Amino acid sequence: MASRPPSALAGPATAPAAFARALEERLVRYARIDTQSDETSTTTPSTAKQLDLLRLLVDELTSMGAADVRLTDYGVVLATIPATTETDAQAIAFMAHVDTAPQFSGTGVAPLVHRAYAGGDIVLPDADVVLSPRQFPYLATRVGDDIVTASGTTLLGADDKAGVAIVMTAARHLLQHPELAHGPIRIAFTPDEEIGRGVHADLPKDLNARVAYTLDGAERGEIVYETFSADKASVHVQGVAIHPGHAKDQLVNALHLAAKIVDTLPHVTLTPETTSGREGFIHVYEMRGTAAAVDLHVILRDFERDGLRDRGALIQQVCATIQATEPRARITCTITEQYRNMRYWLEHDMRPVDLAREACRRRGIEHFSQPIRGGTDGSRLTERGVPTPNLFTGMQNIHGPHEWVSVQDMRRATEMCIELAQLWSSERDLAHE
Ligand SMILES: [Zn+2]
Repeated sequence: MASRPPSALAGPATAPAAFARALEERLVRYARIDTQSDETSTTTPSTAKQLDLLRLLVDELTSMGAADVRLTDYGVVLATIPATTETDAQAIAFMAHVDTAPQFSGTGVAPLVHRAYAGGDIVLPDADVVLSPRQFPYLATRVGDDIVTASGTTLLGADDKAGVAIVMTAARHLLQHPELAHGPIRIAFTPDEEIGRGVHADLPKDLNARVAYTLDGAERGEIVYETFSADKASVHVQGVAIHPGHAKDQLVNALHLAAKIVDTLPHVTLTPETTSGREGFIHVYEMRGTAAAVDLHVILRDFERDGLRDRGALIQQVCATIQATEPRARITCTITEQYRNMRYWLEHDMRPVDLAREACRRRGIEHFSQPIRGGTDGSRLTERGVPTPNLFTGMQNIHGPHEWVSVQDMRRATEMCIELAQLWSSERDLAHE
């Protein structure tokens, strides 16, 4: 590895105080804009209101002097912070998503800043919602920080407007400080991450970066580079429909057969509710149909390829077994790939993770990594050739009324991004060494 430039944030007391004010102001302003996505929609983005924030970000990036600012026809804001050195350094990207989760109201968000949190319960005024450090132990570690919450009736949307605010604040700092040496930095704000549609087929090409980071993680210091590998199984049970009055020895009831399939799948193991850590599962999440035909929707998850293959083989075997009990029915089980553990790609070149760890070390942030039981936009980008670990923002209790974030955690994440931009300026030939 080449020798690295010195840290550019001169000392812990220089820029950070200004960062905190800028981050808080951005988070509060962005959180007030309703950007909930909708999985039942067929448009891109799934909801037009996400464009309210996307267009605002275009204006703000343009006025802070970013280059190549544009909103793609698939609803992603892209921009460039030009390189500040004569360099053949490869472009890196910082990303965040603008949408909030469909599971809880994101309309009329009224962010509250609890300055210099003194410890104890935080009561949210608009509903009977109490944020207690006994229930949420991470809160107890953030005494003295400025805590941002919603008012009780909505989510906050720190997921992922904390990430948006961090990327914007880091971008502005880099644009205002051309003396900081870095290669080209790409910025991307995506819609529809919460409904799994954040990575459009054209995004890897349009992003035009060798490495990307999503700012969409939680506790201070978290660096995620392991996600589930995911497949989906679609089971179709075709019975034989006939008027029940004439059904003797004729009718084959698809509902009974589908129920047998569900009943034969593991119940007390290999389900989401009975597994944790590195264990995989089979999750039947939808059953829909009539006596004539039933569709079962099932997700299969594991961290390892072999484990995922085993889950698929098990559900295939269960379907074959029930099929054998009733030859007049027709049972099919189709398995389709969803996404893959990003570790499979990153383990060939861990620099994206190693440099994020080095950026944390330089800012005195204790880093940690643990596999997450889900996928990210980064999982999809990684398998399409852009390694994309996920970095902390501070967001907590996402997708509900207890959501909160510490402004000081966001500040640490901003510092990490600025360090990362500079660390990459001396790296070459990713994946070719
Ligand atoms: Zn998110």
